[in-house]
Amino acid sequence: MKVLVVGGGIIGCATAYELAKAGCQVAVFERATAGAEASSAAAGLLAPLGESTDTNFARLALASWRLYPGVVAELQRRTGIDVEYVTRGTIYPMSATQTRRDADAWALNKEFGVEVLEGADVQALEPALSPKIRHAIFVKGDHWLNNQRLVLAYAQAAVSAGAELNTGCNVSRLVVEGSRVRALVTDGERVDGDAVLLAAGAWSAELMAPIGAGLRIEPRRGQMIALAHVPPILTYCVHGEAYMAPRPSGELVVGATVERAGFQRAVTAEGIAGLLRAAIELVPSLRELPIARTWCGFRPWAPDSLPVLGPWPGVDGLFVATGHFRNGILLAPITARLMTEWITGGQPSLAMKDFLPDRFVRRPAR
Ligand SMILES: Cc1cc2nc3c(=O)[nH]c(=O)nc-3n(C[C@H](O)[C@H](O)[C@H](O)COP(=O)(O)OP(=O)(O)OC[C@H]3O[C@@H](n4cnc5c(N)ncnc54)[C@H](O)[C@@H]3O)c2cc1C
Repeated sequence: MKVLVVGGGIIGCATAYELAKAGCQVAVFERATAGAEASSAAAGLLAPLGESTDTNFARLALASWRLYPGVVAELQRRTGIDVEYVTRGTIYPMSATQTRRDADAWALNKEFGVEVLEGADVQALEPALSPKIRHAIFVKGDHWLNNQRLVLAYAQAAVSAGAELNTGCNVSRLVVEGSRVRALVTDGERVDGDAVLLAAGAWSAELMAPIGAGLRIEPRRGQMIALAHVPPILTYCVHGEAYMAPRPSGELVVGATVERAGFQRAVTAEGIAGLLRAAIELVPSLRELPIARTWCGFRPWAPDSLPVLGPWPGVDGLFVATGHFRNGILLAPITARLMTEWITGGQPSLAMKDFLPDRFVRRPAR
């Protein structure tokens, strides 16, 4: 079976890898380089605990988080790339009432090592935190990694498993004949396949419009800063109004804004000032650190903020994996697994009803 993957971000590369391992002939088409867009712009936080653990989204996120230790080891074995997977845990500064309420409400406290910190215990764990912070929740199970390296590792692993990675190849349209997708067109050339996986991130809706499909995906811009973090000030990730994740390579990643700014590729004075203000409020000594770089990226967002995963109804052979919004790095391993199950003719091993693309299908008004 020949599968054509549109987009070489984390979702396209991870799924290409799983498809190649499952015996498919895979070709990825990426108009820039692997991971050029949101997948490199991200912070790499793997933090699945939300307000509830009793939703299909929470189950998806937890399933992916549980796959990570195996994925990291497998990618390192195959490619030699160390993705800087850090499992020390994250501190969430909070108010006293919030701390008790949230810690009690969080199920899975044991698996995630959730602890309430009060008074001097906060600074005993992370001395650089502002003395004003008297209450926090520590979540040992909230991890992070270097997503730029992760996407390259997935891309290399896919190639080593037999996938073809075509970079610098813009896909201009999908070819649908009858009710089946037959091919895509890249640089004026038609490439035929048995299935197409659309994983074009925030740009995914563009290729669907000409075939009359009403997929709604929009960009949500995120601005980020890396501070030079040598010698390190923080040991743990700290997550308040801004988050700060210390990377072993010596950068402290500070993020992130969430903005409706179209595809304007710009970091703004307001965006950067807001992040730095929030970060310095939590960790005052950060004000001394040099700014190493700033950047922005475009999260793929669907109107219900949920991922869009599965077959496109009415067009045989066409699959969609997009809309991962703020969690595409976390969700990559499970997305790759579920899409591979689906594309190779099996049934996905998790409840998918909330994520199905058919929620975007235009139905006649009754
Ligand atoms: C600032 C920021 C911080 C984030 N932090 C986190 C985090 O801490 N944890 C987390 O889990 N997630 C995070 N995210 C979200 C995460 O980055 C995204 O959900 C994820 O990267 C989406 O992956 P993707 O492969 O769908 O999209 P992308 O990485 O954008 O990849 C899509 C690719 O498709 C290509 N493409 C588009 N159109 C075409 C075409 N016509 N032909 C060929 N190629 C095409 C693009 O060039 C691009 O490379 C963050 C995002 C941002 C912006």
